[in-house]
Amino acid sequence: MALKATNCPGCGKLFLNPGPGKYCPNCMKKQEEQMDEIASFVRDNPRSSVSEICAALSVKKALVIAMLQSGRLEESNINIKYPCASCGKMIRHGRYCKACGKKITGEIAASLQRVRKNAAEQREKKGIYSKDQWMK
Ligand SMILES: [Zn+2]
Ligand SMILES: [Zn+2]
Repeated sequence: MALKATNCPGCGKLFLNPGPGKYCPNCMKKQEEQMDEIASFVRDNPRSSVSEICAALSVKKALVIAMLQSGRLEESNINIKYPCASCGKMIRHGRYCKACGKKITGEIAASLQRVRKNAAEQREKKGIYSKDQWMK
């Protein structure tokens, strides 16, 4: 299968893209370097905020936040806060604040329960229906 040439979302250069949303080798390398820079900056300045990091290293805020969310900066004992992906409250770990995390897990559990209940009801209805059919 031939690789399709697409524009890199980072620099706009046309290159043979191995998959959707991928960056060209140049940008990948640059991003890795930036992540290393961010990581060492944060080690030296554990109390800096996300905007301070961006200003100091001229990196994209999204990159810093992506690193935080994936836990890449956690072991450097940082004190950075970034907004919860749901309510915007400032947090330090993961994607959501405690309240949203709890709410989301609760919602998932509740919808699973609903799905199970529906399936059980469907089975019951079908059971009755086929019995009626049988009686006729
Ligand atoms: Zn690029
Ligand atoms: Zn939240």
